[in-house]
Amino acid sequence: MLQYSKAGSAGGQHMDLDSRIEELSGVGKVRAAAFGRLGLFTLRDLLYHFPRAYEYRGGVIPVGTAQHGQTASFILTVATEPRSARIKRTMTLTKLRAFDDSGSAEIVFFNQPYIKDIFHIGGKFRFYGKLMLSKTGRQLASPSYEFCSGGVPLRDYIPVYRLTEGLTRKIMEQTVKRALSETSVKLLDPLPESIRRKNGLCVFEYAMENIHSPQDGEALRRAGRRLMYDELFYYSVSASLIRDRRRSDPPRPCADTDISAFLAVVGFEPTGAQKRVFAQIAADMSSPDKPPMARIVVGDVGCGKTVCAAEAMYIAAKNGMQAALMAPTEILARQHYEDLAPLFASLGMDCELLTGGTKAAEKRRIKDRLAGVSGRLPLVIGTHALLTGDVAFENLGLVITDEQHRFGVMQRAALSEKGKNAHLLVMSATPIPRTLSLVLHGDLDVSRIDEMPPGRQRVETFAVDESYRDRLNAFIRKQVAEGGQVYIVCPTVEAAEDGEESGNEIEADEIFSRRTLLTEDAPVLKAAVDYAAELSHSVFPDIPIGFVHGRMRPADKERAMGDFCAGRTKILVSTTVIEVGVNVPAATLMIVENAERFGLSQLHQLRGRVGRGNRKSYCILVSDSASETARRRLDTIKHVYDGYEIAEQDLRMRGPGDFFASEASARQHGGTGFGIASMCDDDSLVNAAFADARELVRDDPGLSREEHLPLRRHVGELLKADAATMN
Ligand code: ADP
Ligand code: MG
Repeated sequence: MLQYSKAGSAGGQHMDLDSRIEELSGVGKVRAAAFGRLGLFTLRDLLYHFPRAYEYRGGVIPVGTAQHGQTASFILTVATEPRSARIKRTMTLTKLRAFDDSGSAEIVFFNQPYIKDIFHIGGKFRFYGKLMLSKTGRQLASPSYEFCSGGVPLRDYIPVYRLTEGLTRKIMEQTVKRALSETSVKLLDPLPESIRRKNGLCVFEYAMENIHSPQDGEALRRAGRRLMYDELFYYSVSASLIRDRRRSDPPRPCADTDISAFLAVVGFEPTGAQKRVFAQIAADMSSPDKPPMARIVVGDVGCGKTVCAAEAMYIAAKNGMQAALMAPTEILARQHYEDLAPLFASLGMDCELLTGGTKAAEKRRIKDRLAGVSGRLPLVIGTHALLTGDVAFENLGLVITDEQHRFGVMQRAALSEKGKNAHLLVMSATPIPRTLSLVLHGDLDVSRIDEMPPGRQRVETFAVDESYRDRLNAFIRKQVAEGGQVYIVCPTVEAAEDGEESGNEIEADEIFSRRTLLTEDAPVLKAAVDYAAELSHSVFPDIPIGFVHGRMRPADKERAMGDFCAGRTKILVSTTVIEVGVNVPAATLMIVENAERFGLSQLHQLRGRVGRGNRKSYCILVSDSASETARRRLDTIKHVYDGYEIAEQDLRMRGPGDFFASEASARQHGGTGFGIASMCDDDSLVNAAFADARELVRDDPGLSREEHLPLRRHVGELLKADAATMN
């Protein structure tokens, strides 16, 4: 069945990682399009599309000992021939009985009459499913089953992939298997052999095979460790290369760093931490014998990073350079513009807003001013289109990106062409544990704002369960009646996978990290769209409600956010797209549904969306999870208000997945932020990857040695892929 070449490519030619998926036998146009919907186009994409979880089918238990509702594997022998009966016009029920030494169970399938051809008396199968006890005895409904032929050993870990319509688990598994066998000889490992050995890592091919189809738990862990190291290492190599490249840029000193006029119009007394950052920025920008600034300002939501960006822009403009401030969304860009343009105007500095939504004539005019074709423009605020689009700058001296954690090292590199030899300032609200920030921010100097502006009110936080629903709705009504606005955040719901949801999946990050979070139970998830509809029909028909989710068209998303910002809608139901940046001072209540599904840092970020005005604000975490771990985590959020402490606890309890959630999703679109490495909570592995990368780049700055050529090519691919996701 497995062909080595398609008709036409004679001679059994193997493919390489850049081959298109449709070149594999068994993959036609339709199927290729389905893969495309997951952002998978090449064999490389496919092989790096790691399972998001594994179903554990090892630990077979005797059927007679299983508890009611227990999901497990059972090895049973068929005792009766399957019999089908039509129970409704549209439903056929097929039943058989099977046993082991401890007892027997009735096995039931719905609408699968062909089952009859599979099960015969005496046949031995491994069944996997949820066992139910009823008056008539033990029953397994629609279990997974595998024939125990005696020959091939059954696998303990069955991969669970992110899937889409037209792609079943089976197709995914088969295609991955084919890709692995067709490329095997060409799985050229980009990791230098000496580094692999030094860190006791398995070979690449073994890692790839076992991440997709683990021989056993140990093989899976080894594969995971290797692939995590890879990601951290390649990321660090890129960061080192970029950093070194930047270090050779000529200085771009600003002679005049007197900011007293700026401070006079800011309107508040900067905190000590802000003053320290002001000084660091001024020193970076004025240094006559160092390369331009490359700095990241990190600090909890609301700590006041924007004013630091403004200070840098002021210094640039004062010294005759242009500065561009970029935000990841139009809404954020507009908010910055509305805050900062009047401030700059009072200092006699002109600032304009340039985004995708700017009208064509207006765009033309601003671009002409930026290019110095007609008039001048020192300051511009916009989205990333500013640097990736066709905007030309006369004298760009400072590039600032806000909420940078959504963009990795690679994308930073992609941005830097136009901002070549410009000062670079990055702002991020995501508290990242020190070791990981080493990798993620390895190319930058770090400024930390560890102090909140005075007078901030603490957002009162509660964790409740479904039994509070009526009280909760009454509370929402009260907030709105008093002029407040309400966020309701629901977890992202993935499209149904393959109908085999079993509840006994082990998330990949539980296997790879020391975290203990287990989905001990699976409460019903609230989908944002359905929930918004339900609320506006039956609960709050009199209150304007909006909703946003990640799969909406950007223009619709912007409109929904805009309506909420302007107070036209009072309740915003959303997935976590609101996590980043927006500032709605009238918002006083944040409700997080299925809070057990969120990472601690994510919850903290969400909480930071309220309490921005002068009204008392609340965050209510709704969870029906009975899991001890879930309880403990929500408790942490209730009592801890410091983002860094939460980040550290999160890492301990859950692995850093949350910090890089967006990078991980960037990968889904062909980018190369952290994917599997986001599950790494082994500091020593992170440190090793970082140190190894630094050392290698120091020894061979061009990666030009023979043994580093595959590495150079690989890193080049990553940079290219990530640059593509910017546009
Ligand atoms: P973030 O760090 O999340 O980007 P912002 O820069 O948006 O935070 O600041 C949040 C709010 O705090 C803004 O309304 C800002 O004007 C205000 N703010 C910032 N610094 C101070 C300060 N030192 N004193 C009082 N208010 C401040
Ligand atoms: Mg901000």
